[in-house]
Amino acid sequence: MMSDALLELSNVGRVYGQGENLVHALTQINLTVRSGEFIAIMGQSGSGKSTLMNLLGCLDRPSSGVYRIRGVDVGSMSAEQLAGLRRETFGFVFQRYHLMANLSAVDNVAIPAVYAGLSREPRRTRASELLTRLGMSDRLLHRPGQLSGGQQQRVSIARALMNGGQIILADEPTGALDSASGREVMQVLHELHADGHTIILITHDANVARHAQRIIELADGRIVNATATDPAIPVDAPTMPIRARSGGAAVFSESMLMALRSLLHNRMRTALTVLGIVIGVASVVAMLAIGEGAKRQVIERIEAMGTDLLSIKRGVAGVRGSGSGIGTLTPEDLGPINALAGVAIAVPETDRPVLVRQSNRDLLLPAVGTAELFPQVRNWPVKRGIFFSAEDVRRHAQVIVLGASAAIQLYDPDVDPIGRFVMINNAPFQVIGIMTPKGVSRGGTDLDYQAWIPYTTAATRVFGQRHFRDITVKVKDGALLDPVERSIRTLLIDRHRKEDFHIRNMSDLIDTANQTQNTFTYLLASIAIISLLVGGIGVMNIMLVSVTERTREIGIRMAVGARSKDVLAQFLAEAMAVCLLGGLVGIALGVLGAWIAGRFTGWMTVFAISPMLLAFGSALLTGLVFGFLPARKAARLDPVEALVRE
Ligand code: ADP
Ligand code: MG
Repeated sequence: MMSDALLELSNVGRVYGQGENLVHALTQINLTVRSGEFIAIMGQSGSGKSTLMNLLGCLDRPSSGVYRIRGVDVGSMSAEQLAGLRRETFGFVFQRYHLMANLSAVDNVAIPAVYAGLSREPRRTRASELLTRLGMSDRLLHRPGQLSGGQQQRVSIARALMNGGQIILADEPTGALDSASGREVMQVLHELHADGHTIILITHDANVARHAQRIIELADGRIVNATATDPAIPVDAPTMPIRARSGGAAVFSESMLMALRSLLHNRMRTALTVLGIVIGVASVVAMLAIGEGAKRQVIERIEAMGTDLLSIKRGVAGVRGSGSGIGTLTPEDLGPINALAGVAIAVPETDRPVLVRQSNRDLLLPAVGTAELFPQVRNWPVKRGIFFSAEDVRRHAQVIVLGASAAIQLYDPDVDPIGRFVMINNAPFQVIGIMTPKGVSRGGTDLDYQAWIPYTTAATRVFGQRHFRDITVKVKDGALLDPVERSIRTLLIDRHRKEDFHIRNMSDLIDTANQTQNTFTYLLASIAIISLLVGGIGVMNIMLVSVTERTREIGIRMAVGARSKDVLAQFLAEAMAVCLLGGLVGIALGVLGAWIAGRFTGWMTVFAISPMLLAFGSALLTGLVFGFLPARKAARLDPVEALVRE
């Protein structure tokens, strides 16, 4: 007869609470259920019926005694194995149906098969078949709210049968129904019993209990009366039609789908949660686009000056003011530098503020003493007239080339400045050219608000000093930058007897600009990432609320066989879905925002793929990290407590 015992309770007790609040819900329960039996458990409210049911269905474990299922001690089983039993062997039917309000009848019935790893099509087919068998073929796509109590209870019975439901545990299944619906439900249970299902029915109604073969009566947690009504027991238990492998992929895709469904169900909340992530991702994308644009702009300006240039400056690199007292970078250095192999042009520059007078107008502007090849070396042509010649330099000619803004300041629009004279230090200078406008340079100085005179004239007539601020050297070939830099250094150290100068080349300058701009970009990016973090905290907050709100849903899922990790996966999927959505919308908004900012301010914006991937990845990671805590909270819920929560 041992092999006949499907479920066997020996001296089982269950206590709740501790100390003064200790409640003995069940005491010394001995009960054997054989395969194919129809048992009713009766008793007053509070007598321990539900507690017994939860123990039998592996939603709960005994505090004492031993519970064996097919001879195996439940106490020795892992949580995973218990979830497996709930999923494959037991089917629960609750007094209040416990259906999910936002799922159709078919989808409600199909839930247990999700956790069994059955794919979507066979799942829906079987769920429809079960519902049809229970007379619900015309209500397949109705939501629970659109069904009567009796119909909802039939949906929940179909759900109990979804994975086989060898043992049906029904806790007051007719308790909430009118008598006609109640009779229908009892009829269904009878049919299932006839098909070989083992039925354990809880009721406090003697009329309902009459349907069973055996009635067990509970009072104060003890069995007080047990009748055996009908010894003829059908023994062929129903074969379990569904034995799908617990497929991770099916569970995962289903988790994503369920996540999207529940997000759609709470649209306003979802929108607000997503907003934080959208702002975070959008700011990362926009900030990086603007930062990259600024960098590109600076570098393009530097490159426009030419990448084959060297600049020899007075003083030691990086030491402010170290060049001020040094008078060694002189016209005498110019010849030998020009004579070096690889040097195309060497042009000196020195600037000083001077007062330029034109009839009754006085203008204080920087005058640059330079040589005839300045326009070539700087890539800066004259717009009108000519630049001064080598001959002008040699002769100390009193000629001047004006910057575009300087010309406008000195002369009325209807006057042609070319050929006219201005006074500097009481000496007349003839205006021979006007430079092409360049605009404001980095650092804010107006490059068009200056004037150029031969360095020889500047030394003797204007500045009263011969040495240069710097000499710009254009090399014949960009590849020669380094060797030419070395030979200039050797030459000048030899001539000056010490290294009182430093040489910068354009690639140094680009490196420096790159570094500065990168710092700027990182700063922007870190601000943006902080906002993403704040968004993530928002996600966590909402998810925690959502877990609390949906405790009962979690309980139902666990009762039909979801493992902790399935619940974890579902809530993680929700958090990730929120962040994914936020990431996509954020990228779109970020690109749009940066583009608009670029249009209105004239900033250059550069959209690269990597910052978008970065932002998107961060959003996903945010979902994973900040979704984990709420998801774990959900996964750790006790199914019994979760179920009773309203
Ligand atoms: P029934 O289903 O027969 O009405 P229950 O099994 O729900 O009775 O409860 C049996 C006893 O255990 C009752 O006294 C009840 O108050 C107590 N009880 C049930 N669940 C808990 C719980 N989670 N914590 C503390 N006491 C509980
Ligand atoms: Mg109860």
